[in-house]
Amino acid sequence: MRLGVFGGTFDPVHTGHLVAAETAMEAADLDSVLFVPAGEPWLKDGEEVGAKRDRMRMVELAIEGNDRFIASDMELQRPGPTYSADTLEELRDQQPGEQLFLIGGMDALADFGRWSRPQRILELATLVGVTRPGHGGLDRAQLDGIRPGASGQVIVAEGPLIDVSATDLRRRLRRGVSVRYLVPEAVERYIYENGLYGTVNGSNDD
Ligand code: ATP
Repeated sequence: MRLGVFGGTFDPVHTGHLVAAETAMEAADLDSVLFVPAGEPWLKDGEEVGAKRDRMRMVELAIEGNDRFIASDMELQRPGPTYSADTLEELRDQQPGEQLFLIGGMDALADFGRWSRPQRILELATLVGVTRPGHGGLDRAQLDGIRPGASGQVIVAEGPLIDVSATDLRRRLRRGVSVRYLVPEAVERYIYENGLYGTVNGSNDD
């Protein structure tokens, strides 16, 4: 089986994530995609990140009804900073029959050289890079510097470009600007019901 692993802060999960996962699934012919909210995302060190329980619940709500999308709390359970290499090792040990594919937007992959143990990641998984508005293609020289020939093995998944980011969504919510259709309806409801991101409980009722 071919399993996609899609890590992120998902603060909150949005339409861009869902389209990216679908695009990656088709491009890499995956059987399913595991959404893995990061526990303590080390790249976001110093920034405040939404509660683990809320980010996890929003992912569950977002993927409800798609039985090829699965939510995993494995990084939320693990103490300390979250590293993809650890996640892939854990998955390989738990599910040795799976072929692993690590999914990331082009913005995330541009930083790949700064990730923890990038060589190990390339041993454990095939990278799937999803196009994202405002972000260029692969940094082939960087990838080949980590492992010769690595850039040629990356699967580039080109889909519809969805110009949505969690940063922009948090800003909109704080200002009382609509996020309708930018996040799944159930996620929008959860945000307002729980007063997340500076919203006032129930304020999207009208
Ligand atoms: P933030 O704005 O807080 O940095 P984000 O919207 O980039 O958040 P993350 O949870 O950090 O969301 O992203 C998880 C993964 O999803 C990353 O690999 C990122 O590149 C990818 N991703 C996020 N939004 C999009 C999008 N609109 N199109 C394609 N890929 C995306």
